[in-house]
Parts: sequence; C-alpha cells; structure tokens
Amino acid sequence: MNASSQVSPAIGTPKNYRGRFAPSPTGPLHFGSLIAAVGSYLDARSQGGEWLVRMENIDTPRNVPGAAEQILATLEAFGFEWDGPVLWQSRRREAYQAALESLTAAGLVYGCACSRKEIADSAGRPAIDGGLAYPGLCRTGLPPGRAARAWRLRVDDREIAFTDRLQGRISQHLERDVGDFVLLRADGLFAYQLAVTVDDHFQGISDIVRGADLLASTPRQIWLQRCLGFAEPRYAHLPVASNAAGEKLSKQTLAPALATDRAAAELVAALCFLGQAAPAELAGAPLAEVWAWAFANWVFAAIPRLPAIPLSAPG
Ligand code: GLU
Repeated sequence: MNASSQVSPAIGTPKNYRGRFAPSPTGPLHFGSLIAAVGSYLDARSQGGEWLVRMENIDTPRNVPGAAEQILATLEAFGFEWDGPVLWQSRRREAYQAALESLTAAGLVYGCACSRKEIADSAGRPAIDGGLAYPGLCRTGLPPGRAARAWRLRVDDREIAFTDRLQGRISQHLERDVGDFVLLRADGLFAYQLAVTVDDHFQGISDIVRGADLLASTPRQIWLQRCLGFAEPRYAHLPVASNAAGEKLSKQTLAPALATDRAAAELVAALCFLGQAAPAELAGAPLAEVWAWAFANWVFAAIPRLPAIPLSAPG
C-alpha cells in the first residue's frame, strides 16, 4: 500500500459533500422553508454533493397529521431530487437514548426538577431565543423531595466559536447565554438539539445550510458534537424571509403554503431572495428550465449577508 492510498479526502471536499434539508411537519412548506431547501440543495449539487431529506417529526405535540406527506409531495412537485430514503426522527428514539446514556455515563447529564416558573422566579437571565438562560438550580443535585422532570446537559464556562460560511465568525458563551440545556424533556420527548446533532452525525452530513433563525442553536449543537466525539460540519446560515410586518415567515405568522401550481415562479422568487440573478422571464418557464438555469448559474457568494444577530443576552 502506498502512502497516498491511506489518505482519505477531507470532509468538505466536493467528493464528500453531503447536505440535508430537515423540515418539521408542523404544517405545509412555505416560502421561508423553500429558501432553506433551495439554498441547501443548490449548495450541495453545485459541489457535486449529495442531498438528503430528514423528517424532523420528533416533537409529536407539534406535528400536524398529513403534513409530512404533504411536505414530501411539495418537494417532489418542485422538482427536488433527494438521495436515499427519507430519515424519520420518530424511528430514531433508540439512537437518541444511546447518546443520552453515553453523555450520562460521562457525567455530563443531570436530572432537573425545575418548572418554567421556578426558573423565571430565580432571576434567570433572558436567553437569546426567548426562553430563559437556565441558572443551574439543580446542577449540584435535586432539591430534597423533588423528582427529575427533565434531563439537562452541562455546559462549561467557555466561548463556543465557529466560522459560518455566510455570517463569518460566530461565538456564544453557553453558560452565560443559554445555561445547561434540556436533552430529554419533561414530556418524555427528546429535544431538537439532541436529535438534530445525533442525526446529522449518523447521516454523515458535512455541510449544514439552513435559515439564520437556527444560528442561535448552532453553538449548542457544536457543544453536543464535542461531548459525543462527533466531527463538526461546516455551517452556512441563510437570510430569513419575513412578511410585510417584518415577522419571520413561519406557521405561527401564518405564512401561506407554497403553491405547487406556481412552482416555477416560487422557485425564481426564492433564487432572487438568495441573491441569484435569475431573469424575470424564467418565472413563466417550465420548471426544468428554472432548475437548469439554477444549476448552471448558482453563485454562493451572491447570497446576501444578514445584519448581525445578537447571540448573547443583553446586559
Ligand atoms: N426541523 C427544523 C425546522 O424545521 C430545522 C432543523 C435544522 O435544519 O437543523 O426548523
């Protein structure tokens, strides 16, 4: 065996690029989800990479019956072609349990008895994503007579920093801004942060391209990767579409479902939102023509940057 055959290509080289789109079936796809799908798909395909779809249906109370099937049908109607079977998080409980057990064995997890009200009353600082930074009340043990409701991962007193391909250097101090965070919730469900980290690793994802609304979650996922001994993927957080009132498009702000009978026009609008110079007349062209244009003309560097998003709680 010669030396060069022992060298495997580095993650992130075009040959090993693997991206993904990971919708939650809490409703139909809307224009905001289309941007994440288009951005991740074209980044993967333009580098000769694979692109996977994962259905993030772990948060069962938020799932809407039929939404997962509708999302997949919409992706197909828009002409997306994914590699391999869809991974369903609802079938992955054992993998999340195994990760939780390995973190517990490493002494990184503890049971927490706190209710939301107790956390708020203990002068928790507001956390960056609207919740409360957990002040560590159960960190040194449960209060007498109280049982654990949720299970938390310890964070430490250091900055987590990474370089986002679009947003540049991002850093967050987890202990100050987030606190020890929940892996297994009081309702018995695994938290998004754990599921997404375990699945991105399991699927061999090299590149995560998603909306900047998830930027504040990334340091927690990187911390989990480090605790679990996983490689860190590359990240690109895309600008997020908002409505006329300046609110992020989402199910909560009643963003309309994507119209599959206007797929070409919606796709052209998504390309333009992502800074691509799609000619206006393409909106009336057959869908295959829009994709052909997009594959031939995709320029990652044209994606607009965001105004800086604070990842630290004020004060
Ligand atoms: N399932 C998440 C959502 O729909 C996205 C997760 C991710 O891309 O990491 O918001």
